[in-house]
Amino acid sequence: MTNDDPTTTNGTAGTNGTAPAGRTSPWELGVGPPPERWDRWTELDPSAWPKKKERNYTLVPTICFNCESACGLLAYMDAETGETVKFEGNPVHPGSRGRTCAKGPATINQVKDTERILTPLKRVGPRGSGQFEPVSWDEALDDIGGRIRKAFLEDRQDEVVYHVGRPGEDNFVLRMLQAWGIDGHNSHTNVCSASARVGYTLWFHADRPSPDYSQAKFALLLSAHLETGHYFNPHAQRIMAAKENGMRLAVIDTRLSNTASHADHWVSTWPGTEAALLLAIARELLERDARGHEVDGRPAIDRDFVRTWTNWKQFLADTDADGSGTFERFLELLRERYARYTDEYAANECRMPAGTVTALADEIQRAGSAFTSHLWRNAAAGNLGGWQIARSLVFLHVLTGSVGTPGGVNPNGWDKFVPTPSENPPKISRWNERHWPREYPLAHYEMSMILPHLLERQDNKIDVYFTRVYNPVWTNPDGCTWIEMLEDEDRIGCHVALTPIWSETAQWADYVLPMGVASERHDVMSQETHAGTWIGFRQPVNRVFAEKKGEKVERTYDANPGEVWEESEFWVDLTWRIDPDGKLGIAKWFESKERPGQPVTMDEYFGDVFSNVPGLAERAAEHQLDPLGYMRRFGAFDVPYHGQQRYADEVGEGGIELEDGTRRRGFGTETGYLEFWSPDIEAWGFEGQGVPNYITSQVHHGHLDEVAGDRVLLPTFRLPTLIHTRSGNAKWLQEISHTNPLWVNPKDMELLGLADGGLARVTTRIGHFVVRVWQTEGIHPGVVGCSHHVGRWRKFTDVGGQKRASSMVEIVREGTTFGFRQKGGAGPYSSPDPDSERVWWNEVGVNQNLTFCVQPDPVSGMQCWHQLVNVKPASQGDRYGDIFVDTAKSREVFNEWLAMTKPAPGPGGLRRPLWMKRPLTPTEATYRMD
Ligand code: SF4
Repeated sequence: MTNDDPTTTNGTAGTNGTAPAGRTSPWELGVGPPPERWDRWTELDPSAWPKKKERNYTLVPTICFNCESACGLLAYMDAETGETVKFEGNPVHPGSRGRTCAKGPATINQVKDTERILTPLKRVGPRGSGQFEPVSWDEALDDIGGRIRKAFLEDRQDEVVYHVGRPGEDNFVLRMLQAWGIDGHNSHTNVCSASARVGYTLWFHADRPSPDYSQAKFALLLSAHLETGHYFNPHAQRIMAAKENGMRLAVIDTRLSNTASHADHWVSTWPGTEAALLLAIARELLERDARGHEVDGRPAIDRDFVRTWTNWKQFLADTDADGSGTFERFLELLRERYARYTDEYAANECRMPAGTVTALADEIQRAGSAFTSHLWRNAAAGNLGGWQIARSLVFLHVLTGSVGTPGGVNPNGWDKFVPTPSENPPKISRWNERHWPREYPLAHYEMSMILPHLLERQDNKIDVYFTRVYNPVWTNPDGCTWIEMLEDEDRIGCHVALTPIWSETAQWADYVLPMGVASERHDVMSQETHAGTWIGFRQPVNRVFAEKKGEKVERTYDANPGEVWEESEFWVDLTWRIDPDGKLGIAKWFESKERPGQPVTMDEYFGDVFSNVPGLAERAAEHQLDPLGYMRRFGAFDVPYHGQQRYADEVGEGGIELEDGTRRRGFGTETGYLEFWSPDIEAWGFEGQGVPNYITSQVHHGHLDEVAGDRVLLPTFRLPTLIHTRSGNAKWLQEISHTNPLWVNPKDMELLGLADGGLARVTTRIGHFVVRVWQTEGIHPGVVGCSHHVGRWRKFTDVGGQKRASSMVEIVREGTTFGFRQKGGAGPYSSPDPDSERVWWNEVGVNQNLTFCVQPDPVSGMQCWHQLVNVKPASQGDRYGDIFVDTAKSREVFNEWLAMTKPAPGPGGLRRPLWMKRPLTPTEATYRMD
């Protein structure tokens, strides 16, 4: 089924639907009503059962905001009352194709949550005291806008910071920060994916993979893609469809994830050793190539591809000047370099069965250019040198010629399209060391999770600090230093939390401003879900419904619940408060073209954006619509795709010249080749790391005294039905998953003296936590696992967290120590929602991240999440959920890791290589330290 014409989509079961025809596999369910029926859709009302009562709906498309996949949703609006009744998948969305995971439909919980914040709040007591009172939006905007204006007028631009967790949109805010002229973007990327991004970037200057599962013969996942990975539902459905078409699957994961349980091979490696396994596979392929060993008639490596598209000549010129300079010499050097990575070596290093390397090499060789893979968080996010795992994985693709091929892995930029307005501000001309400190010149994104340490070290402050869908106190390692920073008004002048719900961090806010959930806002998104390009439109469904009924809605908040705003309108209004007379030259970027001197409306802004999408105007015209009208009507558009293997496109200029004299596009790197050899890594001080390599991690088994109870703690996995902070206001999801026991292998239970269901005390370098034990064979012996996804807490009864999702805690402070004790978990409570009386669970998990020290990888800047811990039965007096932290120790550990860095300036007096990406790229001059 294609989505070339959305009106041709199959129907589904329903009183006016027919059985879908042409399903591609037996597991495929009906995928939602076709668009021509969205204006009037009739279903039986399940709440009237056993009576057969029909209910009429108007269906309005939007996109999900519960992870980054941006799946299409349809809001089922009661045709008579306009009430949003439920959310299901949008069948014409090219990424999600009508399906959702459990979190998509749970959007209705978030809309109707009785604990959501519906009015703007302002702090009235000391920061962190939980004392807030309602404030008008006008007052909040005037105060915050005035503060920012003053900072700008006093040349304190670097004191205004926007710190985002889940962006959920493309370009709007980055463009706004550019309009403001500030280097004020901070993100969550270095607690998420910075390591993997560096590994990919070094190869092809795109920082993510885009696997083409649909045509793959073999997939190797270093992530839990069928349950939680990037991009979960769009990828999971393609992986399952490919499996039904014969694709084989291997999963490398220390833990038996749901994904691993669906694999042909589950390879449980010791955390942090994955690059050793991947390089052993590379060695095996290279040796087979030398021997001419074929599998099913296929060669081990694609020599033509490697010879044509990699920078092997540059590698030889830089490292083997006296050699013959031939491709054969290059292959010989590769065999020498990786000779130590034998099957036996990998088996010992990874603590996995011998023969694994051969089995995986067979699968990869058999698949050839139809070998695909994905690596996200999981291995790369856990350990020192995690970026070399991505480097080593792409090496396998390069050897087999499966880069950019049908069934291979595309650079993500091929499969994503970000539309922009017609006029855009110039690049910023500032460099803010609060986010881009000189100590981490190669960090992929901002050094966000060490912000408290950096402010202290630089003796710096932030005057206006926006946190937006960002909960660092709970999410980041070392959350207590965040509490210390947020409490210090000399460091943080004003903290504005933009959030639909309470979070741990919002407890330390000055303003808490309620923002819309997925059905209450405008955003444009695109993701590299498959070999194709699309855009999706998140829209406020109440507003769109009202407009369909002929009502005029001036502002989204007029149609949203309570006083909930959408962020785009907030930023436009705030920009105009900062620059009311336009003299700062900022407001013009958000000025109406039709009504000069007035702020741009959402229709004007997004109408302009959509007018710049290739092919959209033509498609819209076929439906007698303009581009904005088309996006409002269908919610998504499949942007014409430029195809795979585009590196081989002939170009008139630029690109690379091949031996046959033709000029081809090549890849996005400086040389135009896939870069096996990254001289910049060496030039910036990381000797020996310019090629795919294996770095011994901070949790290598050699560092453990297992007899004394030392173990590696694997904390990087999510729970499939949760959404980090925002799970708290999704009651269905909370009922499914609400706690995070410690996974312990049966072999370790006795050695550690633990009892299944009993309590363990897990001691890290800066503190400890007490958690319930779960005995399972689904974790590697010597390793314990605990999901970071739950363990929510709040200091106050009605402020700080949701009652079904968080425990009330008492925090005892003494100097730099914090002792958390749970005063009570979840349980039934009264609210307008009768389900709140039915909360049957009590334990809501433990916020283990508070006890983790910061461990920033000196190259990528990524938090190396895996912890070296000591595990014992709980001590007398320990209670479930106890947490103890000493932030003086966390400062010590920060300094230890800081000592591993190679600070700028690098070659040419630069802060960072010019080719390395930043989300908000400043002018070239700012890269120069002099
Ligand atoms: S994968 Fe699930 S949570 Fe993520 S966007 Fe899709 S439906 Fe929403």
